[in-house]
Amino acid sequence: MIMTSEWKKRYGYLPWLISIFLFFCITFGEGLNENNSAWSAQKDGVQSNGAVQKKFPAPNEFRNALRIAYEKYKDITEGKNADYIPYLAKVDPGLYGIVIVTVDGDVYEIGDSKYHFAIESISKVFTLCRVIQDMGVQAIEEKIGVNATGLPFNSVTAIELHEARTVNPFVNAGAMATVSLVKGETSDARWNKIIGTMNSFAGRSLRVNKDVYRSESKTNIHNHAIVLLLKSYGRFYDNPSETLDLYTRQCSVAVSTRDLAVMGATLANGGTNPVTKKRGIDESYVPKVLALMMTNGLYEASGEWVYRTGLPGKSGVGGGILAIVPGKFAIAAFSPPLDEAGNSVRGQKAIEYISETLRANLFSIP
Ligand code: GLN
Repeated sequence: MIMTSEWKKRYGYLPWLISIFLFFCITFGEGLNENNSAWSAQKDGVQSNGAVQKKFPAPNEFRNALRIAYEKYKDITEGKNADYIPYLAKVDPGLYGIVIVTVDGDVYEIGDSKYHFAIESISKVFTLCRVIQDMGVQAIEEKIGVNATGLPFNSVTAIELHEARTVNPFVNAGAMATVSLVKGETSDARWNKIIGTMNSFAGRSLRVNKDVYRSESKTNIHNHAIVLLLKSYGRFYDNPSETLDLYTRQCSVAVSTRDLAVMGATLANGGTNPVTKKRGIDESYVPKVLALMMTNGLYEASGEWVYRTGLPGKSGVGGGILAIVPGKFAIAAFSPPLDEAGNSVRGQKAIEYISETLRANLFSIP
């Protein structure tokens, strides 16, 4: 650029300053950007290998998400309590609680988060953890199966249709067969392993709700038929009646929504309870458990669930539901009215809302 005295008079050194500014932008611009994103990644949690993790929500984001999810769905009347277990039909359908526990052990809760309800099928996750820990994942792959049935949790058709019979650890067939893999000299010894595992995930001593246990024991004829059918196919690995009783007991364990969220946070935290710091399962096994929750956790509704939340989850007919955000937090909800597939209506909606609001969907880019 030739600076005539006319130009100089009119614009002074402005063109020079602009040129120098542009030169710096082009030369160092990339570097500045990199530094910038490295800085914000650091803030959001950059891993040692350089991979950027999704932003960790701030405490007020957790609180707001819980409050809105609670308010938004507390008055809906869809769904119906499970009634094939008489006790469950009598639980107040208005009860509603949501809890988030982070991998740092922070707890956010709203509603009836301290009410104790029957864990039911969510117990299947922890007995699976026990068996994987004792026997490795291969035992589950070979003796149970890891495919979805696409059918209801107590389906006999699924047993007939699939060569694996047991199909996966979260339908009743596979779950009861998983209990049959828990070894012990006596029934009590087997039970101690089952409840001991749940206790280590919850960080406290859980108890069986005797009324639920009695109610379920009197009416579990269908489950009895399933264990005998599996035995006839050589896909059941211990005494059918004794194992069915252990399974019924594990389903009758009473938990609060808070307990459930701590249990889930243990999985989110790679198998170590974030409150007690005690290990529930080896970290290397956790992705297998979560994958099974992703594909089978909500039975025939698992596809829709994953489509909406992008999270591994597990439900129980007691009204509990649990979702895991690996490396971050767990969301637990409780509300007894269920949809056709046996999943809590409010619980699903609440978790769907929270997953979206807190950008928890595992399939979205940070
Ligand atoms: N105990 C219940 C049953 O065996 C558990 C079912 C569930 O929660 N989906 O039927």
